[in-house]
Amino acid sequence: MRSPTVYCGPMWGGKTEALISALVRARIQEIATVAFNPAMNARYGTQDVRAHSGASFPAIPVRHGDEILAHVAKHEPQLVGIDEFFMIEGAIDAVRTLRRRGTKIVIATLDMDSDGRAWESVGDLLGIAEDVVKCPAVCARCKADAYFTFRRGPAPQDRVLVGANEFYEPRCWPCFDEGQQAKSAQIGRGSLFERRGEG
Ligand SMILES: [Zn+2]
Repeated sequence: MRSPTVYCGPMWGGKTEALISALVRARIQEIATVAFNPAMNARYGTQDVRAHSGASFPAIPVRHGDEILAHVAKHEPQLVGIDEFFMIEGAIDAVRTLRRRGTKIVIATLDMDSDGRAWESVGDLLGIAEDVVKCPAVCARCKADAYFTFRRGPAPQDRVLVGANEFYEPRCWPCFDEGQQAKSAQIGRGSLFERRGEG
């Protein structure tokens, strides 16, 4: 396995599903494997990595990359899986340390925020990854391949919204761009902020 291997893309692209498949395959191969996910990800609870399809793999919730390294130092797995990498502070440093010690790494993560900007740590991760697999979703408007996560206008403006899937939808580039332009026009008129005030 090339390491780090990264499955990335928008929400609903099946990247966590791909991560789980890789972890299950390693388990069948009797490779000592451990998975981590962010403690702040309350989507389905934090004790498992879970895909939208319902597939799951046991995981240890962590807040910081140092917690990953502490566990690995103690239990010495051959393969480490990380779900929602972008949400874990210090995860990029943990990946560099794991690679130095020869531990294989497989990761699932959003690659961009809902303004189409790469998460900084994910940019670094894709630079050092040996294998990057883009997992497109299906555009909510036109059914083309969707590489962007679009945030609907009235959603809260925090860069990371946990457990708020209803505010988001996958979009292809033309539909994403059109939506962003429409939001900009609304901000220009002040209506976006008026709506937020009412909510
Ligand atoms: Zn579209």
